[in-house]
Amino acid sequence: MVETKKYTLIDGRKVAADIKKEIADRVDELRREKKKLPHLAIILVGDDGASTTYVDGKVKACKEVGFHYSLLRFADTISEERLIKHIDQINNDDDIDGFIVQLPLPAHISVDRVTERINPEKDVDGFTNQNFGSITSTHPLILPATPFGVLELLRRYNVETLGKHCVMVGASRLVGAPLSMMLAEQGRATVTICHKYTKDLSEHTKQADILLVAVGKPGLITGDMVKEGVVVIDIGTTRVEDASKAKGFALKGDVDFETVAPKSSLITPVPGGVGPMTIVSLLLNTLRVFEQRAH
Ligand code: NAP
Repeated sequence: MVETKKYTLIDGRKVAADIKKEIADRVDELRREKKKLPHLAIILVGDDGASTTYVDGKVKACKEVGFHYSLLRFADTISEERLIKHIDQINNDDDIDGFIVQLPLPAHISVDRVTERINPEKDVDGFTNQNFGSITSTHPLILPATPFGVLELLRRYNVETLGKHCVMVGASRLVGAPLSMMLAEQGRATVTICHKYTKDLSEHTKQADILLVAVGKPGLITGDMVKEGVVVIDIGTTRVEDASKAKGFALKGDVDFETVAPKSSLITPVPGGVGPMTIVSLLLNTLRVFEQRAH
């Protein structure tokens, strides 16, 4: 007997396109009123292939919605002091509403020092301690882009989180830690956080009503590790050599789609799931910061 597909694919590209349309409509309105338009600045250090691709995607998204953007590129030999001077300039540039420093940075530059130098009011990645800490306040400031995008995906697919058991695999400051806090705070979910030292990962993942994975290990989660009907959000994106692809690599998630999808009720693909939502969250954060500033 041929097994029929019973899961729903969470289409991040479609949701992202819908949100971009909403943002573009707002920009058109501003343009008609001859108002200033939102302006996002992006700092890219070095020429790492993946970072360049992410930044290209962010620039493309700015163009699509009509934002102004500035791309500041520096060689990976730039000193920390010099980079910080550029950050100060952007902090003080009244024309720029929000800005991001694309990670990772070269080893000689402290990510913490650079991140903390960003004016929290312009920190549209939501990485600064002030924005990160506000996740647990009743009035969160700027939420980190990827977790924000995940919550928006769940909301738009009517996935109820209240009282559900969410299992977050991966506990990084960029994704896993803020996302688990947001699921507990805003989502009112019961959250289990798993990381590298978690003993018997599948004991936890099997209990998930909603399983979220941000590790960077393709195929970490297999079908035998999830229960029937689980909602799966795969945040992992790893470049894996693939001679059949024009670019010579394919993007792989942390979830073994072939074995996990048939047991899921909803699941994100990689690519085309969380990735497009990260970029759109950046646009939403920039628009929000822009609207909050008096123009
Ligand atoms: P990271 O900083 O390397 O963090 C990975 C996390 O996974 C850490 O908490 C690590 O634990 C944990 N971990 C490592 N091995 C594990 C294992 N075997 N079982 C359970 N947990 C394990 O990476 P990240 O920045 O969070 O990114 C994670 C993935 O998401 C990457 O593939 C990245 O490319 C992707 N990502 C995608 C987007 C998007 O827009 N789609 C955005 C951001 C990141 P320890 O802390 O104990 O080491």
